[in-house]
Amino acid sequence: MQQHKSPSSGAERPIPPERRLRVAEVRNVVAVTPHMRRVTLASTALMDFPVRRPAQWVKLFVPTPQSEKPSGRAYTIRHFREALCEMDIDLVLHGDGPCSTWAAGAKPGDVVQIAGPRSGFRLDPDVTHLLIGGDETALPAIGSILEALPSGLAVDAFVEIPEDADVQVIRSRADVEITWLPRNGREPGTATDLAAAMMSAHLPGENCEVWFAAEAATVRTVRRHFQLDRAMPRHRLTMSGYWKKGETDFRDGEGDQ
Ligand SMILES: Cc1cc2nc3c(=O)[nH]c(=O)nc-3n(C[C@H](O)[C@H](O)[C@H](O)COP(=O)(O)OP(=O)(O)OC[C@H]3O[C@@H](n4cnc5c(N)ncnc54)[C@H](O)[C@@H]3O)c2cc1C
Repeated sequence: MQQHKSPSSGAERPIPPERRLRVAEVRNVVAVTPHMRRVTLASTALMDFPVRRPAQWVKLFVPTPQSEKPSGRAYTIRHFREALCEMDIDLVLHGDGPCSTWAAGAKPGDVVQIAGPRSGFRLDPDVTHLLIGGDETALPAIGSILEALPSGLAVDAFVEIPEDADVQVIRSRADVEITWLPRNGREPGTATDLAAAMMSAHLPGENCEVWFAAEAATVRTVRRHFQLDRAMPRHRLTMSGYWKKGETDFRDGEGDQ
């Protein structure tokens, strides 16, 4: 007779790859722009790391001063080089919080842990126009999405950055028009230009998709506009608060990622 194991039989369930904690070492650190530091993480534990789509993200755990427990925050995989078992993560230097502080002093040989990857961007095959936007925390995701887009797609991109010197060069096969929105001295999370640009953007016809990530209050405003004022179908909107002014380790309960 065939034997069936009950859940209480003690049989161990395999841990899904994206839930596994992997130890990685910092291989290199470079300044991308004044407010963005690129940390290259390497590990043989990344051999079977299932990176399949742009804008996938990981939970990055860094050492917390005066605590045994590391601090974990979400960061986008900017590049993944499977053959080298390494990935680049671009961290905003915003001056507060364990991850930003760690990034400012990160050096080769430092050890972190990562869990993931999760989510990622998928373009509906019938989409002909993409509206994409975000602040500097979303720039790694926007960069990886633009680099992966096919030719023939029209894209309007709006990116808020700390200052003019934080503009990045991003290549794409798609027909992309990027508008950079530097705050130039205004505090992060206080400027309204990004929300205004997104909400006044023209979406030609029905085959349009919108992707947006930024400070939580800005995302809320933009989400409501596209859901209520423009009545866009839910499956054509991806919106996530990536951080919240005044809140540590923020998670967007309404977010799509
Ligand atoms: C799916 C996803 C992907 C993300 N990808 C990236 C990425 O690739 N690169 C990246 O830099 N960030 C990314 N973020 C945002 C990042 O997780 C947050 O900014 C996070 O709060 C940083 O952690 P921390 O330890 O530095 O600060 P926390 O301890 O979380 O916060 C400390 C203080 O800093 C403030 N704060 C947090 N972030 C900022 C900011 N950017 N500017 C100003 N003040 C801030 C908080 O309001 C709080 O007052 C992503 C978030 C999500 C959800």
